[in-house]
This record gives sequence, C-alpha cells and structure tokens, in this order.
Amino acid sequence: MRIVVCVRQGLDGELGPFDAAAYEAALQMKGAEVTLLSMGAPRTADLLSRLSRLGAKEAVLLSDPLFAGVDTLATAYTLSLAIARLQPDLVFCGRQTLVGDTAQTGAMLAALADLTLVSGVMATPREEGDKVFVATREGERQLSLPALLTFERIHALRLPSLRSRAGEVKTVSLAALGADPTRTGLAGSPTRVIATAENEGGRRRCRFISPAELDGVVRASLGKRQEGIIPQNGCENKLPLVLSVGEAPLTYAKAVAERVTVLRDCQADAVIEAIRRDCPAAVLFGTDTAGRECAARVAAVLGLGLCADCTALETDGQELFMIRPAQAGSIMAKIKSRTRPALATVRTLSQESAEVVVAAGIGAAASLDRVRALAAHFSASLAASRRAVDEGLLPYDCQVGLTGKAVSPAVYIAVGISGAVHHVVGMSRAGTVIAINPDKNAPIFDYADYGIIARAEDLVF
Ligand SMILES: Cc1cc2nc3c(=O)[nH]c(=O)nc-3n(C[C@H](O)[C@H](O)[C@H](O)COP(=O)(O)OP(=O)(O)OC[C@H]3O[C@@H](n4cnc5c(N)ncnc54)[C@H](O)[C@@H]3O)c2cc1C
Repeated sequence: MRIVVCVRQGLDGELGPFDAAAYEAALQMKGAEVTLLSMGAPRTADLLSRLSRLGAKEAVLLSDPLFAGVDTLATAYTLSLAIARLQPDLVFCGRQTLVGDTAQTGAMLAALADLTLVSGVMATPREEGDKVFVATREGERQLSLPALLTFERIHALRLPSLRSRAGEVKTVSLAALGADPTRTGLAGSPTRVIATAENEGGRRRCRFISPAELDGVVRASLGKRQEGIIPQNGCENKLPLVLSVGEAPLTYAKAVAERVTVLRDCQADAVIEAIRRDCPAAVLFGTDTAGRECAARVAAVLGLGLCADCTALETDGQELFMIRPAQAGSIMAKIKSRTRPALATVRTLSQESAEVVVAAGIGAAASLDRVRALAAHFSASLAASRRAVDEGLLPYDCQVGLTGKAVSPAVYIAVGISGAVHHVVGMSRAGTVIAINPDKNAPIFDYADYGIIARAEDLVF
C-alpha cells in the first residue's frame, strides 16, 4: 500500500494535531510505504526531516517563491500535481490545519486528483486481503481506491526511537513540478482577505447567581436558541441572484440577494449545472459534511474561490464580502473572491445539538460523577474541553472547540472550564451560557450569561 500523507507546518513550526493523527494512522498500517508531502517555505524541510525519523520512506517539499500566498484552491492544485506523479493508493490529510482552519483543502485535492473522498475518519484504516475498510462516525465502509481520507484528531504522533535516522527531503520547484504559475501562489488564489478586526463576538455580560438559582435559570432558558446568523450591517444594494444549496443557508442568502433560488440537490454536478444555467452572483452551502464536500468539489471543478465557515455576509450590490473567524477565532477576517460566482459555506446552527449541553473541564476531573448527575438532571448531552479529553475524562467525540466540534444548544453549562479562546469558539453560539468555576477571574465568565462561583464537587441538586 502506498500512502502519501499531506502535512502543513504550523505557526509554531510543528504539525497540527489533525495532520499528526493522519501521519500516525499511516505509520500504523503494516507494510505501507509512506511518503510525506508538504508545500511551504524552505524551512519546512527541517520539520519533514524530523518527521521522516518516525518511518516515512521519503519526504517531498514543494517549495518555490511562486507558491507563496496561496489559498486552499491553489494549494490543492499544487498538491494534486505531486499526487499525480507519486500515484499513491491512499492520500491521508488532517481534517484541517490550525493556520487556515478551513477544512477545505482535502476535499478540493480529492476532486482535482480524482480520488474517492472520505471525510472525518475516526480510526486507522483496516486491511483485509486486498480490501481496505475505513470507519467514520457514520460507520465502517469499504474503500474504492485510490482514495483520500481526512482524519479527525484521533491519534497523537509517536516519538522517534533513539536509533532512528532522518531521511532525505526532496525539494521540488514550480518548474520541476510543471505547475502553471497562473494557478498557484497568490496569482492562482481567487480569495483575498481585505480587512481584519478583533473578534468581540461571543462576549456576554455575566450575572452571578447562587447554586440554588441554577435550576430556575436553566428552565427559563429552555427553547431559546440563538438566531441562525449574526445580523448584517443592512445591505442597501443587493446581489441580483444568489443560489442557496439546501435550505440551511437561506437566511444568509435572503440578507444579501434580491432573488434567491434554492437547489435541494446537494450534488456538485447539479450545482455546476445550475451555475451555468442561472449565472448567480453567489452560491451558498451549509457547513455540514455534505455541504462542505459539495462546495469544495464545485470550487475545484470550476476553479472558483471558496470562503469557508462564514458567520456574516455583506454586499454593496456588486461584490459579496464574506466574514469569518480566523486565527483560532481571535480575529474576524473580511474576504472577497475575484472569481464569480463567489462561493461560501455559511455556519448554520446544528439543530441536532441537544437542548442542554453540560461540559466538563479539567477542573471537574475529581467530580465527574457530579457533572454526569447534572447532565442527567437536565436530560443534557455531555461535552468536554480538550484538556478533559486529553486526560481521558470523556471521549474525543465530546470535545467542543477549535479542534473539536461546535455546538449550539439552548443552554450550555461549563463546569471547571477556564474559557480558553480555543474552547469558546465551539460554544459561543449557545442560547444561554452558564459557567461554574471557583475562580471568579476565570475568562469563561466573560463568555457567560450566568456565573456560579463554586467547585464542581459542591454542586448539589
Ligand atoms: C491549537 C490549539 C487547539 C485547541 N483546541 C481546543 C479545543 O478544541 N477545545 C478546547 O477545549 N481546548 C482546546 N485547546 C486547549 C485550550 O487552549 C485550553 O488549554 C483548554 O480548553 C483548557 O481546558 P480546561 O478549561 O478544561 O482546563 P484549564 O484551562 O486548566 O481550566 C481548568 C479550570 O477549572 C477550574 N477549576 C479548578 N478546580 C475546580 C473545581 N474543583 N471545580 C470546578 N472548577 C475548577 C479552574 O479555575 C480553571 O478555570 C486548544 C489549544 C491549542 C493550542
């Protein structure tokens, strides 16, 4: 089995947790020939060289000044040329990098390299004779090869053995790759960040209450979920026609369009046909797996810019301005596309999310039974901070935040969670947030409507 693992160096010089999981999964596949593939600055060679000590047969770095400034489409195009040469059976990618945080590149690469796409892989693929099986949250299925898998944060990367040697890193330039300079780097990137601002979203005015008031506050907050989108800044001039793929993006579409058509079929071919027929100014998709995969495929096939995970849209009647959190949610970026139609996935609230979610942080480690009882009392789902997951308190499926999932219940009760920005991005769209923490200065209270200054073990109800 030949496996190419696509990795990107993070701002800290290391691999992101999703790429690490993808590489570890490849190393766990017995007898596999693993190639590491990255696009980046020449200094990425040091990282690849270190990573090769873990067992990769070779490492390839696509590096050229003309590759700089890429967006996801240009990245996927450049990587697809290398994949065409390497001819692997499997390509492994992390779900997302922490630099771009778009979760789009894998799906675009699969479309451009003509690979079967399986998103959200939850375990190392299993081989049975010449068959390969892969598990996602939806269950296990047989793969048709060649395939591209995107991995959740399911494994930590092993450490090198003392005797292991670093392998050679082969650096490939734009000319050697045979890349079209108009399709890569900044020149080949249809999306542009035009402004950034500090993200003030998610901050709430906290009212401190006593533990005895908790029950009443929760009951009064039931049924009050947040509105689907952040209000627009009143778009006076609207785009003539916007295509909404499915019902989920409809509210966004109506906010920026004079006329909206809804396509109920979330298949790339049907969307491409509708684009060619109706020439909409923009096409909006939901952020569920089907919406993301469809959007990435349409962008790859038509060579269009795609902006992921928008939380607000604006227009001047000519252009669509797409606003999304960036840098772990600390800033909001305003982005436009120089190709038309503009494509965007828009964050819709997941209605399958439970009415009440009770989340445990590491501060609740000694009293998880109290957290479970609290959840049972409100018929709530359990969730967790990353530290709580890393310490084995609750499974990864429960993790809320940048490298976990986003939830939008009517009530989110955070017990023993400090309120790191990486956690807050996953719960900031809850209707009412209640934080329970003995430290009155914990940042979580800046993101909570109600606060209880108490230890988890003192919760009685
Ligand atoms: C790139 C990156 C991605 C990340 N992604 C995520 C993510 O997706 N999700 C996520 O959650 N984190 C994520 N993190 C980690 C994040 O930065 C924080 O480290 C993490 O959220 C902290 O978890 P915590 O609040 O449980 O622990 P801590 O920050 O240690 O906080 C524990 C809290 O418990 C309180 N406490 C102490 N004793 C008690 C008690 N007896 N009862 C009640 N409370 C008590 C303390 O006052 C403290 O506020 C990420 C970090 C990075 C760098």
